[in-house]
Amino acid sequence: MIVKTTVSALWSAPQSLLDDGLRRVDTLLAGAAPGVEVFFRADDVAAPGEACERMLEIFARHGLPLHLAVTPAWLTPARWDVLHRWAGDSDQWCWHQHGWRHVNHQRAGRKGEFGDERTPEAKRADLARGRARLEAIMGARFSPVFTPPWNRFDAQTARLLHEAGYVAVSRWAGAQGAVPTPEGLPDIPVNVDLHTRRESDPAEGLDALLREIEGGLASRRVGFMLHHQRMNDAAFGFLDRCLAAVAGSGLKPIRLDRPGS
Ligand SMILES: [Zn+2]
Repeated sequence: MIVKTTVSALWSAPQSLLDDGLRRVDTLLAGAAPGVEVFFRADDVAAPGEACERMLEIFARHGLPLHLAVTPAWLTPARWDVLHRWAGDSDQWCWHQHGWRHVNHQRAGRKGEFGDERTPEAKRADLARGRARLEAIMGARFSPVFTPPWNRFDAQTARLLHEAGYVAVSRWAGAQGAVPTPEGLPDIPVNVDLHTRRESDPAEGLDALLREIEGGLASRRVGFMLHHQRMNDAAFGFLDRCLAAVAGSGLKPIRLDRPGS
């Protein structure tokens, strides 16, 4: 399993800049229209490291739902025992499927585990293998929601997911336009990238992050994407205060496996 641990430049910003960002987050959330939804999705979950424990602790403390996208091939019963012990059985966790092995199968272009360079049989088999493994290890705590590695899959995969009875998928905002999902399989996208930002200038990164939050609010749903392996102390501090702001706002936290709830 290879997970990037690079920390975005934003999270090395002076604390004064991050404090300013948090004030701007407060202002944005305070001005949100009634009924705007919010959710959080953490990718690449499986190995129970210190960052993962810290992330779970923060969400538990704020009582907000977290969607944990688990890569099936990386999960073992021993790893699950630890994750489950840390998380407990609270209703706030939505443990769901993040691909099968998180491996790129595209020979060129953007990475994808479920792209157009594989046969439908190969993709169907990997989806089924992944789900069976998570169900075997997690039992009833598994939710039939699918977050594809690198936030993308092809139209064939969308049909396979629908046929297999998944209740929702979650990609990056805008993916639905390029590869729509069939009726009955909602795509509930993330639109705020906390930890894989590429801006080399922290102030620029912060401005772009706030623009994403603003865009999410305008679309009536803010979906935060987390990568805990790429968080440092500043990123954890920001998340903690951001969750406090969300919990104290009029935003409505949702679960992807309970559409319309
Ligand atoms: Zn991933």
